[in-house]
Amino acid sequence: MAGQRVGFEPDVVTLMGVPIHDVTMAETLALVSRWIAEGGAHQIATVNPEFLMLARRDATFRATLQRAALCIPDGIGVLWAARRRGKRLRERVAGSDLVPLLSAEAARHGWRVFYLGAAPGVAEKAAAILAERHPGLIVAGCYAGSPAPEEEAAISARVRAAQANILLVAYGAPKQDVWLGRNLARTGAAVGIGVGGSFDFIAGVSRRAPRWIQRLGLEWFYRLVREPWRWRRQLALPQFVWLILTGRDAPQY
Ligand code: UDP
Repeated sequence: MAGQRVGFEPDVVTLMGVPIHDVTMAETLALVSRWIAEGGAHQIATVNPEFLMLARRDATFRATLQRAALCIPDGIGVLWAARRRGKRLRERVAGSDLVPLLSAEAARHGWRVFYLGAAPGVAEKAAAILAERHPGLIVAGCYAGSPAPEEEAAISARVRAAQANILLVAYGAPKQDVWLGRNLARTGAAVGIGVGGSFDFIAGVSRRAPRWIQRLGLEWFYRLVREPWRWRRQLALPQFVWLILTGRDAPQY
């Protein structure tokens, strides 16, 4: 079951009806290690303000995040909003940082990683780059596939046949997370993570903000300038700030 939690109960703050866990990157990696040792199916979601704004109106996405084993605080806006609710989250745990760090751990422990999603060829390129950077990394499989419901059974069977321990899914939110909520258990992978544009970043298809911009908390702005077609999506951000400031962030049922 994707909602299973084992042995570790991090503090939680709820925003827009979505629980966000106060975990650090090191704790996240330790949980992955424990879950792989114990088996089962554990979904990790990388929650940023865009996720929260989607979840506020989309009951399926919200339920998926509520059932996830771990919702990590991905985005400076989530830390800010939590602080407004009186809860200090210790660290921003960015999904795009998690993928390379997890690959290093996977190489060390012999975990098998499956790379699902992104445009054809991108997952293969990202996996090859990661395998070169982290000698010993076992790439269980790469497949672009599609989040279409009619492909779910075949893709799940493919991941199961590859005997993956970790399944990374790059279909963008909310598709990747809903996909994992429906299918992770039958893929046999112990850990499933929706990783958004991470394969694109690693493969060099798109570029992340420099570290100094990330440290200033302006990665969202960098993305807006480089990918201006996102402006419509990013309109959700001022609305997010407004809802948090006015305390009107209850989900819209
Ligand atoms: N994607 C896909 N199939 C789809 C929709 C998206 O493979 O039907 C991929 C897309 O190629 C990209 C990733 O999903 O690699 C999501 O990218 P985006 O930057 O939009 O994700 P975000 O992190 O912003 O959710």
